[in-house]
Amino acid sequence: MSLGEHQIEPKTLEVILAHSAGTCFGVQGAIDIAEDKRQPILGPLVHNPKIVSDLATQGIPILERYSDLEKIKKEGIQEVIITAHGYPKELKEALIKEGIQFHDATCPVLLKWVYGKIETFEKDGYNVVIVGNPKHAEIIASRTYGKKTHVVYSEEEVDQLPDNLGKVVAICQTTITKEKFEKLVEYMRKKKYPHLKAVDTRCKPVKNQQEAVEKLAQWVDAMIIIGGFDSSNTTNLAKLSKKYLPDSTYHVDSANSVQKDWLKGVKHLGIGAGTSTPKTQIKEVQQKILELFPGKVLFRQESKDGEILDVNFTPEDEF
Ligand code: SF4
Repeated sequence: MSLGEHQIEPKTLEVILAHSAGTCFGVQGAIDIAEDKRQPILGPLVHNPKIVSDLATQGIPILERYSDLEKIKKEGIQEVIITAHGYPKELKEALIKEGIQFHDATCPVLLKWVYGKIETFEKDGYNVVIVGNPKHAEIIASRTYGKKTHVVYSEEEVDQLPDNLGKVVAICQTTITKEKFEKLVEYMRKKKYPHLKAVDTRCKPVKNQQEAVEKLAQWVDAMIIIGGFDSSNTTNLAKLSKKYLPDSTYHVDSANSVQKDWLKGVKHLGIGAGTSTPKTQIKEVQQKILELFPGKVLFRQESKDGEILDVNFTPEDEF
């Protein structure tokens, strides 16, 4: 909502935090492993620049994700940490072969559920099609846990799939939107495999956050989505919000990016944050809003059912 020349600027701004915004158990588990083991990490632990730079500041080296093992051995590295996105099966085997110990911070959702689904379906004679970004670390790893996996992220890629694959099942990247998965499943059924089975393998934290942001974006005046620009989950939250607020959805990866102009004429401001966004970063954004807004600011939180909890807290309080 933008105010016309003669409208009165709201004196009170209500800032509503979406339900389950911020770090998920998978990301927190990965941080705990990294801080406990304090060994070099094979790539950014999670897709959040603040978490990665905090770990680097603690003296934990961040290596290239697909490092040359001989080279790292020559540098005297004998232990590494695998990131939350997982690591290709054959590269884990190579680490074992080279005698490099690894601490696996792969999210349990991938280790126990997604890889398990791929293996079980293959045992039952299915070809597995993963709907996800083929360049994303999660998909680069997940696809190696099957012998006949295919990856698609667009209708053009579906067109290139073989015609006669026999029994086929589609699963998806844990952070993709429901809409995108369903659209490509429908297209695959229409164009390639009429009897295609589909299992939505988005994880629970992602589903909860997507639902919460979509609900909130439908009634507030503006939304701020906090998280890394290379975080697939955060980027998808921003896309969902833009469906309803195309001109007043702002994706930021730091509180410093929040602008006073964004609050002009806004009475209700929603905040969403990706699964890799630390709660401290959400508080920094809330603090920034408090500094920038000229009137009174009320901070509220959304309940699981989409109700606004009648709590008013300051950014310093726990939530
Ligand atoms: S977003 Fe989901 S899959 Fe990714 S780390 Fe969190 S719980 Fe695991």
